[in-house]
Amino acid sequence: MNFIGTYILEISYIVASVLFILGLKMLSHPVTARRGNLLAAFGMTFAIIATILWHRHNNERIHNIGYIVVAILAGLAVGWFIAVKVKMTAMPQLVSFFNGMGGACAALISLLEFPKLGGDAHLANMFHGEVLDIILGMVIGSVSFAGSMIAYGKLDEKILSWKAPVFRYLNISILVLIIALAVFIMSRGTVNPQDILGWMYLLMALSLVYGVFFVMPIGGADMPVVISLLNSFTGVAAAMGGFLYKNQAMLTGGILVGSAGTILTILMCKAMNRSLGNVILGAFGGASGAASGGVAGSIKEISLSDAAVLLNYSQKVVIIPGYGLAVAQAQHICSELDKLLTERGVDVRFAIHPVAGRMPGHMNVLMAEADVAYDKLIEMDDINPDMPNTDVAVIIGANDVVNPAALDDPASPIYGMPIIKAHEAKNIIVMKRGMGKGYAAIENNLFYNDKTRMLFGNAKDTLQKLVGEIKNL
Ligand code: NDP
Repeated sequence: MNFIGTYILEISYIVASVLFILGLKMLSHPVTARRGNLLAAFGMTFAIIATILWHRHNNERIHNIGYIVVAILAGLAVGWFIAVKVKMTAMPQLVSFFNGMGGACAALISLLEFPKLGGDAHLANMFHGEVLDIILGMVIGSVSFAGSMIAYGKLDEKILSWKAPVFRYLNISILVLIIALAVFIMSRGTVNPQDILGWMYLLMALSLVYGVFFVMPIGGADMPVVISLLNSFTGVAAAMGGFLYKNQAMLTGGILVGSAGTILTILMCKAMNRSLGNVILGAFGGASGAASGGVAGSIKEISLSDAAVLLNYSQKVVIIPGYGLAVAQAQHICSELDKLLTERGVDVRFAIHPVAGRMPGHMNVLMAEADVAYDKLIEMDDINPDMPNTDVAVIIGANDVVNPAALDDPASPIYGMPIIKAHEAKNIIVMKRGMGKGYAAIENNLFYNDKTRMLFGNAKDTLQKLVGEIKNL
């Protein structure tokens, strides 16, 4: 007869899975996102505790509970410390790093479980689902780990993009080798998997190399797509672990991460107007991406008082926030500018580009943090038709997402990426520190446009002074 705890465990996993799904659903809106995150974390904690209490293997409970608790507490402390310390602008690196850890876990699970397969006569043949499951978990987990570490290094500007056509051929060759080796391992007949463990190590090494070479040539504005793709890999690798252990919570968690990551990848590709194959094989932006054509026109500055007057007496103002606003932590003062102008009868809205900043939804998060009303945050496709009726477009620390080269310069590395059409506004004010380039490392003709006036300085300082000027009017 089954231990009663087995039933309790199954029910606990279903409860945990429901909590994951509800949590994920709540993450889709800024108002409920924080609670959604907590709910999903609670589901995971619940699943872990239930496993420790009720899991039985050959009628024995889990051993080494002391070690498990210490490991969990150590992971909790390190994760907590890093998450509390990390700056908002370094969030994508953190996501990449944590994602890599998930991939590494899945790969290590496979490596640990593989030698345990032996001892059973029917397993003398390696050609069955469990081995395939282990191999997939290890390959995908290793690729995700190595790729995420490279993505982490790139986002943190520790590693430069290294673009060479040779990567394309190398990657295809390594992928073919990985598939061949996996088939070879599965076709080997042995009662003792230890005999062929060496091949598994080789498979893991190849997968790690593939992960490095896979992300190495991708750069510039394509990084958001890569990060969400790697995220979906980790989910799939974790789901393999769920199959292996017949653990529903792990399976659901993995599937949710895998499918959410895949959906996000597709949405990101759409936002950049590129196909996934093109992102992986193409060469977009990156350190080597230079402007195709030269810039025309000259830079014209505007004084703080003139900017204040222009904004104060406008009817429609669209604020376009970008990465620089996040770096300067200028969201609160930006919100104050919005409130001040709104009080004076100006119609102020925010134009949100899907890849502005350094992580998906970055600008939504920043503006929500600064208490900007959600109905003022307008998605790119909705605000663009109204740009010609806008009196002033105020660009704060954005660059690539307003670069018209994406629309009219087929030779530009960002050609085809949808942008916020700031250039169609009647007046344009750009706040940035100097003539620094954006993430794609290319020139921006918008800054030389006749309608554009530059307001140089750190976004937060400039906004503080500007708000002061407007208050004095
Ligand atoms: P960009 O990175 O294109 O440009 C940011 C601009 O901000 C720079 O030109 C810089 O100019 C300015 N800046 C930097 N610090 C400050 C500061 N303290 N005060 C004022 N200005 C500052 O930003 P966008 O948001 O326009 O575009 C995002 C880019 O990042 C896209 O190419 C996107 O593909 C990529 N990306 C997006 C991710 C995502 O998921 N959202 C992830 C990874 C990459 P200056 O030095 O002159 O001040």
